[in-house]
Amino acid sequence: MSDTDPHLNPRTTEGRGKLYSSILDTIGDTPVVQVKKLAPDNVRLYVKAEFFNPAGSVKDRLAISIIEEAERSGALKPGQTVIEATSGNTGVGLAMVCAAKGYPFVATMPTSVSVERRKLMRFLGAKVILTPKANKAMGCYLKAVELADANGWFLARQFESDANALIHENTTAREILADFAGDKLDYWVTGYGTGGTFSGVAKVLRKERPETKIILSEPINAQLIESGVVQERGEGGAPAGTHPAFEPHLIQGWTPDFIPAVLQESIDQKRFDELAPIDAQEGIEASKLLARKEGIFTGISGGCTFAVAQEIAATAAPGTVILCMLPDTGERYLSSPLFEGVGEAMNSEEIALSTSTPGFHLVDE
Ligand code: PMP
Repeated sequence: MSDTDPHLNPRTTEGRGKLYSSILDTIGDTPVVQVKKLAPDNVRLYVKAEFFNPAGSVKDRLAISIIEEAERSGALKPGQTVIEATSGNTGVGLAMVCAAKGYPFVATMPTSVSVERRKLMRFLGAKVILTPKANKAMGCYLKAVELADANGWFLARQFESDANALIHENTTAREILADFAGDKLDYWVTGYGTGGTFSGVAKVLRKERPETKIILSEPINAQLIESGVVQERGEGGAPAGTHPAFEPHLIQGWTPDFIPAVLQESIDQKRFDELAPIDAQEGIEASKLLARKEGIFTGISGGCTFAVAQEIAATAAPGTVILCMLPDTGERYLSSPLFEGVGEAMNSEEIALSTSTPGFHLVDE
Protein backbone atom coordinates (compact mmCIF):
# COMPACT_ATOMS: atom_id res chain seq x y z
CA MET A 1 0.00 0.00 0.00
CA SER A 2 1.36 3.45 -0.85
CA ASP A 3 1.20 6.51 1.44
CA THR A 4 -1.32 8.07 -0.90
CA ASP A 5 -3.79 5.19 -0.66
CA PRO A 6 -7.01 6.98 0.30
CA HIS A 7 -8.01 4.15 2.63
CA LEU A 8 -4.84 4.54 4.64
CA ASN A 9 -5.37 8.25 5.24
CA PRO A 10 -8.83 9.24 4.06
CA ARG A 11 -8.70 12.87 5.22
CA THR A 12 -8.08 15.14 2.25
CA THR A 13 -8.69 18.80 1.44
CA GLU A 14 -9.52 20.44 -1.85
CA GLY A 15 -8.38 24.07 -1.45
CA ARG A 16 -10.82 26.95 -1.60
CA GLY A 17 -10.92 26.94 -5.37
CA LYS A 18 -9.78 30.54 -5.63
CA LEU A 19 -6.77 32.76 -5.07
CA TYR A 20 -7.17 35.73 -2.72
CA SER A 21 -5.82 39.12 -3.69
CA SER A 22 -5.83 40.42 -0.09
CA ILE A 23 -5.94 39.00 3.44
CA LEU A 24 -9.00 41.23 3.91
CA ASP A 25 -11.01 39.08 1.51
CA THR A 26 -10.69 36.17 3.93
CA ILE A 27 -12.76 37.94 6.62
CA GLY A 28 -16.04 36.20 7.49
CA ASP A 29 -17.53 32.87 6.40
CA THR A 30 -16.53 31.36 9.73
CA PRO A 31 -17.54 27.75 10.37
CA VAL A 32 -20.41 26.55 12.54
CA VAL A 33 -19.22 23.52 14.52
CA GLN A 34 -21.20 21.06 16.63
CA VAL A 35 -20.18 20.54 20.24
CA LYS A 36 -20.81 16.93 21.21
CA LYS A 37 -19.38 16.01 24.61
CA LEU A 38 -20.48 19.19 26.38
CA ALA A 39 -24.10 18.99 25.24
CA PRO A 40 -26.94 16.63 26.17
CA ASP A 41 -27.37 13.75 23.67
CA ASN A 42 -30.77 14.88 22.50
CA VAL A 43 -29.85 18.54 21.82
CA ARG A 44 -27.74 19.88 18.93
CA LEU A 45 -25.47 22.62 20.25
CA TYR A 46 -23.34 24.54 17.73
CA VAL A 47 -20.74 27.28 18.00
CA LYS A 48 -19.90 29.91 15.37
CA ALA A 49 -16.11 30.03 15.53
CA GLU A 50 -15.17 33.68 14.93
CA PHE A 51 -11.51 32.95 15.70
CA PHE A 52 -11.27 31.73 12.09
CA ASN A 53 -11.20 35.38 11.01
CA PRO A 54 -7.68 36.38 9.85
CA ALA A 55 -6.84 38.53 12.89
CA GLY A 56 -8.54 36.07 15.25
CA SER A 57 -11.85 37.69 16.19
CA VAL A 58 -15.34 38.75 15.17
CA LYS A 59 -14.12 42.36 15.16
CA ASP A 60 -12.28 41.88 11.85
CA ARG A 61 -15.75 42.20 10.29
CA LEU A 62 -16.38 45.56 11.92
CA ALA A 63 -12.89 46.83 11.08
CA ILE A 64 -13.20 46.25 7.33
CA SER A 65 -16.75 47.61 7.35
CA ILE A 66 -15.91 50.90 9.07
CA ILE A 67 -12.79 51.55 7.00
CA GLU A 68 -14.42 50.77 3.64
CA GLU A 69 -17.54 52.77 4.49
CA ALA A 70 -15.34 55.75 5.41
CA GLU A 71 -13.39 55.33 2.16
CA ARG A 72 -16.65 55.34 0.18
CA SER A 73 -18.08 58.38 1.98
CA GLY A 74 -14.80 60.28 1.77
CA ALA A 75 -14.58 60.62 5.58
CA LEU A 76 -11.24 58.81 5.43
CA LYS A 77 -8.62 60.26 3.10
CA PRO A 78 -5.71 58.30 1.58
CA GLY A 79 -2.91 58.01 4.13
CA GLN A 80 -4.94 59.62 6.94
CA THR A 81 -4.38 58.25 10.44
CA VAL A 82 -7.18 56.14 11.92
CA ILE A 83 -7.81 56.15 15.68
CA GLU A 84 -10.17 54.08 17.85
CA ALA A 85 -10.95 53.31 21.48
CA THR A 86 -10.83 49.56 21.92
CA SER A 87 -10.83 46.75 24.44
CA GLY A 88 -8.46 45.00 22.07
CA ASN A 89 -10.09 42.95 19.36
CA THR A 90 -11.32 45.97 17.39
CA GLY A 91 -7.83 47.40 17.66
CA VAL A 92 -6.23 44.20 16.38
CA GLY A 93 -8.76 44.06 13.52
CA LEU A 94 -8.24 47.72 12.63
CA ALA A 95 -4.47 47.33 12.88
CA MET A 96 -4.68 44.48 10.35
CA VAL A 97 -7.01 46.37 7.98
CA CYS A 98 -4.97 49.59 8.24
CA ALA A 99 -1.71 47.68 7.65
CA ALA A 100 -3.17 46.01 4.55
CA LYS A 101 -4.58 49.27 3.20
CA GLY A 102 -1.74 51.60 4.19
CA TYR A 103 -3.29 53.80 6.90
CA PRO A 104 -1.38 54.60 10.12
CA PHE A 105 -3.43 53.37 13.11
CA VAL A 106 -3.54 54.52 16.75
CA ALA A 107 -5.50 52.66 19.45
CA THR A 108 -6.47 53.94 22.87
CA MET A 109 -6.92 51.12 25.35
CA PRO A 110 -7.45 50.80 29.11
CA THR A 111 -4.65 49.08 31.04
CA SER A 112 -7.20 46.53 32.28
CA VAL A 113 -7.20 44.50 29.06
CA SER A 114 -4.57 41.85 28.38
CA VAL A 115 -1.01 42.82 27.36
CA GLU A 116 -1.18 40.37 24.43
CA ARG A 117 -3.58 42.77 22.76
CA ARG A 118 -1.15 45.70 23.06
CA LYS A 119 1.68 43.65 21.63
CA LEU A 120 -0.41 42.29 18.77
CA MET A 121 -1.45 45.78 17.71
CA ARG A 122 2.12 47.07 17.91
CA PHE A 123 3.30 44.02 15.95
CA LEU A 124 0.82 44.99 13.23
CA GLY A 125 2.40 48.46 13.14
CA ALA A 126 -0.07 50.35 15.35
CA LYS A 127 0.60 52.82 18.16
CA VAL A 128 -1.15 51.99 21.47
CA ILE A 129 -2.01 54.79 23.91
CA LEU A 130 -2.89 53.34 27.32
CA THR A 131 -5.52 54.97 29.54
CA PRO A 132 -6.03 54.43 33.29
CA LYS A 133 -8.13 51.43 34.32
CA ALA A 134 -9.98 53.69 36.77
CA ASN A 135 -11.38 55.75 33.87
CA LYS A 136 -12.96 52.61 32.33
CA ALA A 137 -14.06 52.35 28.70
CA MET A 138 -15.41 55.93 28.84
CA GLY A 139 -11.97 57.42 29.61
CA CYS A 140 -10.45 55.41 26.78
CA TYR A 141 -13.16 56.64 24.41
CA LEU A 142 -12.76 60.30 25.43
CA LYS A 143 -8.98 60.04 24.93
CA ALA A 144 -9.57 58.82 21.37
CA VAL A 145 -11.93 61.75 20.71
CA GLU A 146 -9.37 64.18 22.16
CA LEU A 147 -6.52 62.83 20.01
CA ALA A 148 -8.68 62.70 16.87
CA ASP A 149 -9.77 66.34 17.36
CA ALA A 150 -6.25 67.55 18.13
CA ASN A 151 -4.67 65.83 15.11
CA GLY A 152 -7.40 65.72 12.48
CA TRP A 153 -7.46 61.90 12.55
CA PHE A 154 -10.34 59.67 11.46
CA LEU A 155 -12.17 58.34 14.54
CA ALA A 156 -13.66 54.90 13.78
CA ARG A 157 -16.54 55.24 16.33
CA GLN A 158 -17.37 51.54 16.64
CA PHE A 159 -19.94 52.31 19.37
CA GLU A 160 -21.99 54.65 17.15
CA SER A 161 -21.22 53.72 13.54
CA ASP A 162 -24.01 52.28 11.35
CA ALA A 163 -21.28 50.30 9.57
CA ASN A 164 -21.01 48.13 12.71
CA ALA A 165 -24.40 46.35 12.91
CA LEU A 166 -24.70 46.56 9.12
CA ILE A 167 -21.74 44.26 8.47
CA HIS A 168 -23.32 41.66 10.77
CA GLU A 169 -26.62 41.97 8.88
CA ASN A 170 -24.78 41.48 5.60
CA THR A 171 -22.30 38.79 6.62
CA THR A 172 -22.68 37.07 10.04
CA ALA A 173 -26.48 36.83 9.80
CA ARG A 174 -26.42 35.72 6.13
CA GLU A 175 -23.90 33.00 6.98
CA ILE A 176 -26.14 31.73 9.79
CA LEU A 177 -29.19 31.68 7.51
CA ALA A 178 -27.25 29.82 4.82
CA ASP A 179 -25.67 27.30 7.18
CA PHE A 180 -29.02 26.49 8.85
CA ALA A 181 -31.02 26.53 5.60
CA GLY A 182 -33.44 23.62 5.66
CA ASP A 183 -32.73 22.99 9.33
CA LYS A 184 -34.27 24.36 12.51
CA LEU A 185 -32.63 26.95 14.74
CA ASP A 186 -34.38 27.30 18.09
CA TYR A 187 -31.92 29.55 19.95
CA TRP A 188 -29.19 32.01 19.05
CA VAL A 189 -27.00 33.06 22.00
CA THR A 190 -24.68 36.09 22.17
CA GLY A 191 -23.26 38.74 24.48
CA TYR A 192 -22.50 42.33 23.57
CA GLY A 193 -19.63 44.81 23.55
CA THR A 194 -20.63 47.47 21.06
CA GLY A 195 -23.75 45.41 20.34
CA GLY A 196 -22.87 45.18 16.64
CA THR A 197 -23.02 41.38 16.46
CA PHE A 198 -26.29 41.25 18.39
CA SER A 199 -28.03 44.14 16.61
CA GLY A 200 -27.09 43.08 13.09
CA VAL A 201 -27.82 39.37 13.46
CA ALA A 202 -30.97 39.86 15.57
CA LYS A 203 -32.47 42.24 13.02
CA VAL A 204 -32.14 39.63 10.27
CA LEU A 205 -33.22 36.67 12.42
CA ARG A 206 -36.37 38.51 13.58
CA LYS A 207 -37.33 38.92 9.93
CA GLU A 208 -36.15 35.67 8.37
CA ARG A 209 -36.34 33.29 11.34
CA PRO A 210 -38.97 34.76 13.68
CA GLU A 211 -39.23 31.46 15.55
CA THR A 212 -35.58 31.60 16.67
CA LYS A 213 -35.29 32.72 20.29
CA ILE A 214 -32.58 35.31 20.80
CA ILE A 215 -30.72 35.12 24.11
CA LEU A 216 -28.62 38.14 25.11
CA SER A 217 -26.14 37.71 27.91
CA GLU A 218 -24.61 40.28 30.28
CA PRO A 219 -22.06 40.01 33.09
CA ILE A 220 -23.88 39.20 36.34
CA ASN A 221 -22.36 42.26 38.03
CA ALA A 222 -23.02 44.64 35.10
CA GLN A 223 -26.58 44.03 33.98
CA LEU A 224 -27.04 47.34 32.19
CA ILE A 225 -30.01 46.27 30.06
CA GLU A 226 -31.73 44.26 32.80
CA SER A 227 -31.56 47.33 35.08
CA GLY A 228 -33.89 49.24 32.75
CA VAL A 229 -31.99 52.46 33.57
CA VAL A 230 -31.81 54.72 30.52
CA GLN A 231 -28.33 55.64 29.22
CA GLU A 232 -27.61 59.37 29.15
CA ARG A 233 -26.36 60.49 25.76
CA GLY A 234 -24.65 63.45 24.18
CA GLU A 235 -23.86 64.43 20.63
CA GLY A 236 -24.33 61.75 17.93
CA GLY A 237 -25.62 59.19 20.46
CA ALA A 238 -22.28 59.09 22.29
CA PRO A 239 -22.64 58.17 25.99
CA ALA A 240 -22.71 61.15 28.38
CA GLY A 241 -21.69 59.21 31.48
CA THR A 242 -21.04 55.84 33.12
CA HIS A 243 -24.19 53.71 33.47
CA PRO A 244 -25.19 53.27 37.14
CA ALA A 245 -25.57 49.47 36.81
CA PHE A 246 -21.96 49.02 35.66
CA GLU A 247 -19.34 47.26 37.79
CA PRO A 248 -15.92 46.23 36.45
CA HIS A 249 -15.96 42.62 35.26
CA LEU A 250 -13.52 40.08 33.82
CA ILE A 251 -15.24 39.53 30.48
CA GLN A 252 -12.91 41.50 28.19
CA GLY A 253 -14.73 42.94 25.19
CA TRP A 254 -18.19 42.66 26.76
CA THR A 255 -20.47 45.31 28.31
CA PRO A 256 -18.59 48.62 28.52
CA ASP A 257 -19.58 51.11 31.25
CA PHE A 258 -22.29 52.54 28.99
CA ILE A 259 -25.01 51.27 26.64
CA PRO A 260 -23.64 51.90 23.11
CA ALA A 261 -25.84 53.64 20.54
CA VAL A 262 -25.34 50.63 18.23
CA LEU A 263 -27.12 48.48 20.82
CA GLN A 264 -29.88 50.91 21.83
CA GLU A 265 -32.19 50.49 18.85
CA SER A 266 -32.23 46.72 19.25
CA ILE A 267 -33.08 47.08 22.93
CA ASP A 268 -35.87 49.56 22.10
CA GLN A 269 -37.22 47.17 19.43
CA LYS A 270 -36.83 44.27 21.92
CA ARG A 271 -34.91 42.14 19.46
CA PHE A 272 -34.16 39.62 22.22
CA ASP A 273 -36.38 37.09 24.00
CA GLU A 274 -34.41 36.70 27.18
CA LEU A 275 -31.57 38.35 29.08
CA ALA A 276 -29.15 35.86 30.63
CA PRO A 277 -26.76 37.05 33.35
CA ILE A 278 -23.49 35.13 33.58
CA ASP A 279 -20.67 35.04 36.11
CA ALA A 280 -17.23 35.51 34.49
CA GLN A 281 -15.79 32.64 36.52
CA GLU A 282 -18.41 30.28 35.09
CA GLY A 283 -17.45 31.44 31.60
CA ILE A 284 -13.76 30.85 32.33
CA GLU A 285 -14.55 27.28 33.41
CA ALA A 286 -16.67 26.76 30.27
CA SER A 287 -13.85 28.03 28.07
CA LYS A 288 -11.41 25.60 29.72
CA LEU A 289 -13.85 22.72 29.19
CA LEU A 290 -14.36 23.65 25.53
CA ALA A 291 -10.57 23.49 25.08
CA ARG A 292 -10.01 20.24 26.99
CA LYS A 293 -13.06 18.26 25.96
CA GLU A 294 -13.71 19.54 22.45
CA GLY A 295 -10.41 21.07 21.29
CA ILE A 296 -12.22 24.40 20.73
CA PHE A 297 -10.06 27.31 21.83
CA THR A 298 -11.88 30.55 22.66
CA GLY A 299 -11.61 33.47 25.08
CA ILE A 300 -13.57 34.48 28.17
CA SER A 301 -16.54 36.00 26.34
CA GLY A 302 -16.81 32.82 24.24
CA GLY A 303 -16.77 30.75 27.42
CA CYS A 304 -19.48 32.93 28.96
CA THR A 305 -21.69 32.69 25.87
CA PHE A 306 -21.15 28.95 25.80
CA ALA A 307 -22.02 28.58 29.50
CA VAL A 308 -25.35 30.32 28.81
CA ALA A 309 -25.95 28.04 25.80
CA GLN A 310 -25.24 25.00 27.99
CA GLU A 311 -27.79 26.23 30.56
CA ILE A 312 -30.41 26.43 27.80
CA ALA A 313 -29.40 23.02 26.47
CA ALA A 314 -29.72 21.43 29.92
CA THR A 315 -33.49 21.97 30.10
CA ALA A 316 -34.34 22.16 26.38
CA ALA A 317 -36.83 19.82 24.70
CA PRO A 318 -35.31 16.89 22.78
CA GLY A 319 -34.28 17.90 19.27
CA THR A 320 -33.60 21.55 20.20
CA VAL A 321 -30.97 23.31 18.05
CA ILE A 322 -28.83 26.05 19.62
CA LEU A 323 -26.17 28.30 18.09
CA CYS A 324 -23.69 30.17 20.27
CA MET A 325 -21.19 32.86 19.19
CA LEU A 326 -17.50 32.40 20.05
CA PRO A 327 -16.06 35.90 19.43
CA ASP A 328 -12.31 35.29 19.64
CA THR A 329 -9.33 33.01 20.20
CA GLY A 330 -8.09 31.93 23.63
CA GLU A 331 -4.53 32.88 22.66
CA ARG A 332 -5.43 36.48 23.41
CA TYR A 333 -5.69 35.64 27.14
CA LEU A 334 -2.35 34.05 28.06
CA SER A 335 -1.72 36.69 30.75
CA SER A 336 -5.34 36.83 31.96
CA PRO A 337 -7.32 34.89 34.60
CA LEU A 338 -8.26 32.39 31.85
CA PHE A 339 -4.73 30.96 32.07
CA GLU A 340 -4.37 31.21 35.85
CA GLY A 341 -2.79 27.99 37.10
CA VAL A 342 -1.34 27.12 33.69
CA GLY A 343 2.39 27.13 34.45
CA GLU A 344 5.53 27.45 32.36
CA ALA A 345 7.74 25.07 34.37
CA MET A 346 7.03 21.34 34.70
CA ASN A 347 4.69 20.34 37.53
CA SER A 348 5.40 17.35 39.78
CA GLU A 349 3.48 14.95 37.53
CA GLU A 350 5.46 16.08 34.49
CA ILE A 351 8.78 15.84 36.39
CA ALA A 352 7.85 12.31 37.48
CA LEU A 353 7.16 11.41 33.86
CA SER A 354 10.42 12.99 32.72
CA THR A 355 12.51 11.05 35.26
CA SER A 356 10.69 7.76 34.59
CA THR A 357 12.96 7.11 31.57
CA PRO A 358 16.76 7.52 31.55
CA GLY A 359 17.49 10.21 28.95
CA PHE A 360 17.37 13.99 28.63
CA HIS A 361 16.39 15.11 32.15
CA LEU A 362 16.06 18.83 32.53
CA VAL A 363 18.12 19.62 35.61
CA ASP A 364 18.24 23.39 35.71
CA GLU A 365 17.49 26.04 33.15
N1 PMP B 1 -16.21 39.30 22.83
C1 PMP B 1 -15.04 39.91 22.66
C2 PMP B 1 -13.78 39.25 23.17
C3 PMP B 1 -14.98 41.16 22.03
O1 PMP B 1 -13.80 41.79 21.87
C4 PMP B 1 -16.19 41.77 21.58
C5 PMP B 1 -16.15 43.11 20.93
N2 PMP B 1 -15.77 44.16 21.78
C6 PMP B 1 -17.39 41.10 21.79
C7 PMP B 1 -17.36 39.87 22.41
C8 PMP B 1 -18.73 41.70 21.42
O2 PMP B 1 -18.91 42.01 20.09
P1 PMP B 1 -19.80 43.26 19.65
O3 PMP B 1 -18.94 44.48 19.81
O4 PMP B 1 -20.14 42.98 18.23
O5 PMP B 1 -20.98 43.35 20.55
